[in-house]
Amino acid sequence: MPGFSLKLSRRDVVGAGALLGLAGASSHAVAGQWTRLASLAVPDPTGHLITRWRHDPYAGGSYSFLAVGSRPEHREWLRESVGGRLFFAGEATHGLFPATVHGALMSGQEAAGAIAATGARSVAIVGGGVAGLAAAKRLAEAGTTVTVYEARNRLGGRVWTDRSLGQPLDLGASWIHGVTGNPLTAIADAVGAERRATDHDSFIARTVGGRMLEEDDWPDWFWTVMETEAAYAADASALSPQAEDEGDWFGGPDVLFPGGYDQILAGLRGNYGTRLNAPAQAIDYSADEIILETNGERVTADAAIVTVPLGVLKAGTIRFTPPLPARKREAIDRLGMGLLDKAYLRFDRVFWDASVDWLGYVGPRRGHFTLWLNMAKVTGQPILLAFNAASAADALSGLSDQALVAEAMTALRAMYAA
Ligand SMILES: Cc1cc2nc3c(=O)[nH]c(=O)nc-3n(C[C@H](O)[C@H](O)[C@H](O)COP(=O)(O)OP(=O)(O)OC[C@H]3O[C@@H](n4cnc5c(N)ncnc54)[C@H](O)[C@@H]3O)c2cc1C
Repeated sequence: MPGFSLKLSRRDVVGAGALLGLAGASSHAVAGQWTRLASLAVPDPTGHLITRWRHDPYAGGSYSFLAVGSRPEHREWLRESVGGRLFFAGEATHGLFPATVHGALMSGQEAAGAIAATGARSVAIVGGGVAGLAAAKRLAEAGTTVTVYEARNRLGGRVWTDRSLGQPLDLGASWIHGVTGNPLTAIADAVGAERRATDHDSFIARTVGGRMLEEDDWPDWFWTVMETEAAYAADASALSPQAEDEGDWFGGPDVLFPGGYDQILAGLRGNYGTRLNAPAQAIDYSADEIILETNGERVTADAAIVTVPLGVLKAGTIRFTPPLPARKREAIDRLGMGLLDKAYLRFDRVFWDASVDWLGYVGPRRGHFTLWLNMAKVTGQPILLAFNAASAADALSGLSDQALVAEAMTALRAMYAA
């Protein structure tokens, strides 16, 4: 189950032009004739937030996928401990729930369990995302001395809530995918985080000129972008044939957090130390203890858990001594690091189809601003969220904010102002 999942059933697509949020605003009586109100119908945004996960040195992409040439066992190889003291966790290592927050959480808990069995008394955890924090909490509860070394100036990693537009908006993960039996549900309950379900079938697709497209008229590429590329953060052609059968999923709806995903981090606090702005540069596991180098300082521990994203391992910015075993290096090379980027646009009013969760744009450029989430339904604020995935996202992430917002507005004006 990929990190972002839009599994539309090919039916039940909402089909009603009357769902326009600003009833009548897209048309206007002039000299007895109904003509379209173009530029007035779609205002300029009053603010924006744009992610570029590929260029983030502490992520190198959004989440992992099974690429052509890789197999599910590569995730096992990535997870395998080395020399009995160097352990690995993180979303890419989890065979059952890869590319998800709950997969990261469970991978951290499982690594903590494996380390506890070795009798290590002190553990260094590299990376303070959900996997690292979940491992730290569990080890600390068992009485182990734990320090988390995090490269950024904040914890959470790819769980990252921004509040600069006056509203909690998630730059990384948005949803708990499948709430039933999901360990994140218990954490969200414990911290009292409000959740809202979104419905993949609550969807309207429009094409240039604002025309609504019934499902039967959706081009194949549109299905591929929504069902495959946005879900796996990879081009369909880049996916292993085994990708679709990989992993498992929890039942129940997908929910997101109006108050921000980062609320769950409160549920991962524990009696462990954290060092921010502490990127691991080198890890020496050749002797009886681990030597971790960060900011030129060398710290030691009985064992370590490396939870950095696959994209960071691919970049080779952490030097391992001795070099990692061949099959771990093969796993790092073969597994793919996908790209799903987000663009939030804030407006002074809602001008779009206000009562549906999802908007689709069947535009001239495949995968460019194809998929939009109506954040007004979640937040009560006039905010839209565009998802761009795979090679379209890679192409867009080279643009300036201004150019990217301009392309987003071209799409919205094609959908709503023609
Ligand atoms: C745009 C986007 C949307 C997503 N949507 C969803 C969703 O809706 N639902 C879902 O379940 N999942 C989603 N995911 C995936 C989910 O966010 C991840 O699977 C999960 O958060 C990964 O947790 P992690 O602990 O494995 O990695 P991370 O959260 O990346 O944690 C790793 C940590 O290591 C740190 N680090 C990197 N290099 C170093 C270094 N050299 N030294 C020290 N620290 C270092 C990083 O800064 C980071 O804090 C999404 C991801 C993205 C990017």
